[in-house]
Amino acid sequence: MARVVFLGTGSTGDPSRRSASTAVVTPGGDVILIDVSGGSEIVSAMRDAPLPWARLRAVVITHQHFDHASGLPFVLFWSAIAGKAPGAAVGPIELCVPGPAVEGLRAACDTFFPGLYTPWWLGDRARWHGCDPGQFLWALDLLDDGTSVTPPAIDHGPPATLPEGVVARIVTMAVSHGAPPMPAQAVRIDIAMADGSVRRVVVSGDTGPNLELGKVGPEPDLLVHEASAVASLGHDLDNAATIGHATAATAGRVATRARVKRLALNHLGVSWAADPSPAREEAAAHFAGEVLVPNDLDWLDL
Ligand SMILES: [Zn+2]
Repeated sequence: MARVVFLGTGSTGDPSRRSASTAVVTPGGDVILIDVSGGSEIVSAMRDAPLPWARLRAVVITHQHFDHASGLPFVLFWSAIAGKAPGAAVGPIELCVPGPAVEGLRAACDTFFPGLYTPWWLGDRARWHGCDPGQFLWALDLLDDGTSVTPPAIDHGPPATLPEGVVARIVTMAVSHGAPPMPAQAVRIDIAMADGSVRRVVVSGDTGPNLELGKVGPEPDLLVHEASAVASLGHDLDNAATIGHATAATAGRVATRARVKRLALNHLGVSWAADPSPAREEAAAHFAGEVLVPNDLDWLDL
């Protein structure tokens, strides 16, 4: 069983409404976080899910906007605490971050918790990877012995199987986001199932209209795509595109182009997310499959 947990489905970092983070749980119980919300709400989300800090194997930061990345000091602090529990068996945490964002985020964590990287706390468990935005598909394999390895060159096609010993494969692809533009990435997680098959989930992160996103993972089991603007709600669609965001209609088009099985919308605006049905209807007008609009802490098995 591979599980996707929608720890946060919103934007703007208002923890009382919706935050921004998705977790993927492998059949073996390892946790991969994709974005970490805007602050300490990631701690309460992990507790309420519930997901164990001791099983956190990897964190993918799609981009360094605060509502996606500011929870990182809390994630590393609580991971360090988990390592102090009697009998704890914790391993490295692979931090997969757009290359230009590594230095700033690493320093930010040490700024907000001086001494975080000293041996008593996290030590060398945090392994920072600068995902190269110039490389079309960047990838990292998580192995069943707790280590990781860069796989041989991969192509766009969906893998029918993963190499023996691979628990999950993380694949990132640069996307366009922000005004001015900033390094940002979508991510695909390939999950090795007990029967040898592979389940795949793609998370768009924040992105402008980007039909190329299908190349990061044609035919995934689930696409989690941002839907920051909805035409029927009177949103300024030109402004959304200018600052690098997508509409619910775009999410539906990408889902169709990528031939996904299910589409989940996230990054909903706090001003309208109490009733997200217009977003669902707009996406469904462009995608014949199932459209989900999850709430925080909803989950589904792939
Ligand atoms: Zn953003």
